[in-house]
Amino acid sequence: MGSVSGMLRALASGSKHLAIKRFTLRYPEQKLKFVGDGYQFDPKDGVGIVGYRGRHILYHDKCTGCQLCSIACEGIAEAISMVKVDKQYKQNKKGIMPQIDYGKCVFCGLCVDACPFYALFMTDDYELAAYTKEHLIYTPDQLAVKPKYQGTYEIKIDELGAYHDE
Ligand code: SF4
Ligand code: SF4
Repeated sequence: MGSVSGMLRALASGSKHLAIKRFTLRYPEQKLKFVGDGYQFDPKDGVGIVGYRGRHILYHDKCTGCQLCSIACEGIAEAISMVKVDKQYKQNKKGIMPQIDYGKCVFCGLCVDACPFYALFMTDDYELAAYTKEHLIYTPDQLAVKPKYQGTYEIKIDELGAYHDE
């Protein structure tokens, strides 16, 4: 039964692209604007919520320093290291939070799935190019910053994938 529904989903996903107009953007003059949040996971219900898998966002007031995100990444890319933060949070006695190296991250989202405290999600931020490897390492403070830019070409994402309306 599962394989039949999987085949139907694959067919629906593939056939949708027959009706979608192809488009090419002249980046960086023309930029994408993703509609909705990035990829999230609801640990209570055990479901992933569809969204773009761009740069992460870390909510300091929720992170407990449990390291589960780092452990989840160990077998994938070893992109997360736990580092000390200056500010003290009552839910985080060790005072440690994840730091992510985007030179290693493969944007799989497993660290988001592993976080039981709704502290780590992904955002629509896809502009991560840097001149040095060091600049690809995002500290907990950098991960707490919400993406600022907004493109003009709207891209929507649903369970069948990304699409453009126009
Ligand atoms: S999204 Fe990146 S940081 Fe998170 S588990 Fe995957 S590779 Fe590691
Ligand atoms: S982001 Fe989530 S999984 Fe990672 S240390 Fe903080 S609370 Fe734990």
